[in-house]
Amino acid sequence: MNLFSSPQHFLTWRRSLSNKKSVGFVPTMGALHEGHLSLVRQSIQENDVTIVSIFVNPIQFGPKEDLKRYPRPLQKDRRLLAGLKVDGLFAPSVKSMIGQEILTKVSVHPLNEFLCGAPQFRGHSHFDGVATIVAKLFNIVSPQRAYFGLKDFQQVRVIEQMVKDLNIPVEIVRCPIVRERDGLAMSSRNQYLSPRERTLAPYIYRSLQSGRKLLRSHPNMSLKAISSQIKNQLKKIPEFKIEYIEFVDPQSLEGLRQKKGAVLLAAAVRLGTTRLIDNLLIK
Ligand code: AMP
Repeated sequence: MNLFSSPQHFLTWRRSLSNKKSVGFVPTMGALHEGHLSLVRQSIQENDVTIVSIFVNPIQFGPKEDLKRYPRPLQKDRRLLAGLKVDGLFAPSVKSMIGQEILTKVSVHPLNEFLCGAPQFRGHSHFDGVATIVAKLFNIVSPQRAYFGLKDFQQVRVIEQMVKDLNIPVEIVRCPIVRERDGLAMSSRNQYLSPRERTLAPYIYRSLQSGRKLLRSHPNMSLKAISSQIKNQLKKIPEFKIEYIEFVDPQSLEGLRQKKGAVLLAAAVRLGTTRLIDNLLIK
């Protein structure tokens, strides 16, 4: 597996690849787990060449967030990717990607201000930071396809919209959420959880499942009443600090009052110092 730590080195290799080869791309922040690896396997299946990036993107973290403590086990990640026979790993330094400052920002409004993007949570600058760096990565990597996990549903929508609006020639492939056996969505942040918090964390997914059950069994119940029930269930566990539990339109991400064709039930919950997100797309 080829490893590159700056856009310049990467580009020399990228230009040497035949234009006839399809390139699949999996952008990540590293600390890889089965969720990431499922995206990589799908890319390997569907493309001639697979490129993975590892970049803990500082401009998507707020000043009070976990940028400093975010795990960076690069050697372990390299071994995992080499084991899958990934062709290229692009792990640029912050300096080579950002320099002094990025003056151009990509802002996908209003998708960036719902759910996690609300000012009291991560704020729109989180998704602006994501979109800006993903746009740079797309320009550097020039993939035909890019693979994103539905665990970060809002991120997928932001990237899909950016690609459409800016005519970026890449197909965005949505990949299913990979879960632990007890239902907890895999995340690099799960390793922050204490043993007790780890036993509680699966209740987030269970509460979403019970919301789906209510929606199906009580077609006349309002979405607000269902989300209130879910919140009340979770509030029984004092360690949970709910940021939001919301039914939204899966396309526009706007909050829903009335049931429509498909709905997204999305959750963000703090457990101790760890912020966890999860969602269920209900058709
Ligand atoms: P991250 O390293 O957290 O930025 O994630 C990189 C990519 O992996 C994103 O597209 C995520 O949505 C995806 N991903 C992370 N966790 C999971 C999971 N449990 N299942 C599927 N995809 C995931």
